Amino acid sequence: MIAPLYRAWHRKFPPEIGEEERHYLSIHSHYYKDLSSEEQKRFEHRLAVSLRWFDFRVHNLPEVTTEMKIAVGAGIMQVCFGLRKYLFRRFRRIQLVPAAYTYPGLEHMPMIGDTNRNNWMISLSWPHVLEGIRGKDDGYNVVLHEVAHGLEWEHLLGRKAIRTFLHHTDYKHWKRLAAKKLHLIRQGENSFLKDYGGTNMEELFAVSIEAFFEQPFDFKKRLPYLYRQMCQVLNQDPTQRKSPVLIPRGV
Ligand SMILES: [Zn+2]
Repeated sequence: MIAPLYRAWHRKFPPEIGEEERHYLSIHSHYYKDLSSEEQKRFEHRLAVSLRWFDFRVHNLPEVTTEMKIAVGAGIMQVCFGLRKYLFRRFRRIQLVPAAYTYPGLEHMPMIGDTNRNNWMISLSWPHVLEGIRGKDDGYNVVLHEVAHGLEWEHLLGRKAIRTFLHHTDYKHWKRLAAKKLHLIRQGENSFLKDYGGTNMEELFAVSIEAFFEQPFDFKKRLPYLYRQMCQVLNQDPTQRKSPVLIPRGV
């Protein structure tokens, strides 16, 4: 079933979040905990739909647990909470692994997560997923980082005739502002955001999303134009914790 039909079906027959799922949600999503009760219901609905949409799997771990699905699923919902679309078409497969890993030929580059366009899979090291959630305001969160990559590629590869994940003009404007920031990072004049963002525009988008959610007040103060544009791109302002969405875009 394609994503719009799938969403419509579940609006008519809404799936429920169970007690165990809600328990892990309250432990693993600071974002969800801060929402108003009305917004929490919308978050739960989207999460319940997405848990049936995404294909969670493990490699060298015994089994996919509810805790894994919630910890990762909540991160996807958080990034996409202001967007109409939140079910990735290409990156539906999400794999959890027991530790940092490498790819053949890249043994010198251990990874804690990656969004792979060869097999359309997002891989995440489970202990680093938990570490990212525990350090809730340090700007390091591998789930948010990889979801940002997935979202950007879903947007860029989406068919223009169909509504894309992000608003084109807002996204283009973000890129113009971000290109200036990339230049500053490369000049060694970075005052906020991880230097890793200077790698390229994709990494800058991903580290911006990590800081946007984990350090929104600092981000807003230090880089107000870029912060405001992030709000436009994602249609939400995380400094408004109870109700971050700017323009309601439906369930
Ligand atoms: Zn990255």
